Amino acid sequence: MIHPGSSPRHLKRRRALLLGTLVLLVPAGLAAYFIAVLGSFPGVTTHPSGEAAAGIVEPRFTQPPFGLDEANGYIRLGESLSPERADLPALTNLDPGLLKAVRSAARDARGAGIELGVNSGWRSEALQEWMLTQAIKDYGSESIARRFVSTPESSRHVSGEAVDIGPTDAAAWVEQHGNRYGLCRIYANEPWHFELATTPGGSCPALRTDAS
Ligand SMILES: [Zn+2]
Repeated sequence: MIHPGSSPRHLKRRRALLLGTLVLLVPAGLAAYFIAVLGSFPGVTTHPSGEAAAGIVEPRFTQPPFGLDEANGYIRLGESLSPERADLPALTNLDPGLLKAVRSAARDARGAGIELGVNSGWRSEALQEWMLTQAIKDYGSESIARRFVSTPESSRHVSGEAVDIGPTDAAAWVEQHGNRYGLCRIYANEPWHFELATTPGGSCPALRTDAS
């Protein structure tokens, strides 16, 4: 005797159900995958060079802030500037001593087979303010946001005295050799952030916990 459940009509209905489930599940799975890979904060993604794996998340903004462009020091997500570029305020508005040190470091890093890029340099007050507002929204907490994004009044990016360096191997190279040029990593939670903080060849100050 043939079981009613295995009649062709039931099989067809089952196949349709299975297909329908797949059609619903596959896009949901893809969405989950992209959120996991691209970062869970809307508008913010984790640093592309893998600090997220170490539990460190640098806020990088996927959407350019309205009206704030390259003239404000805005650098698109995933873009890394050669320090040699002389056409962008993110670099040209940096303290000349810092820019010179970064350029020297980049040349020597290249000799060691490492390509050094600037992910963020000088920022206008308006851009810094926007980043802080965005970070507070995305982290859901001003105190967490302030660990990564300073106020326009206190930011060393706004004063032209800080650069964020990528990718990870370049930041690691500068952490190891940067003191030759006076460059020091400043914060324990930001392996990408460097400032002129010693005399060339001197030793760097102890790391601060974070920017807050
Ligand atoms: Zn920084």
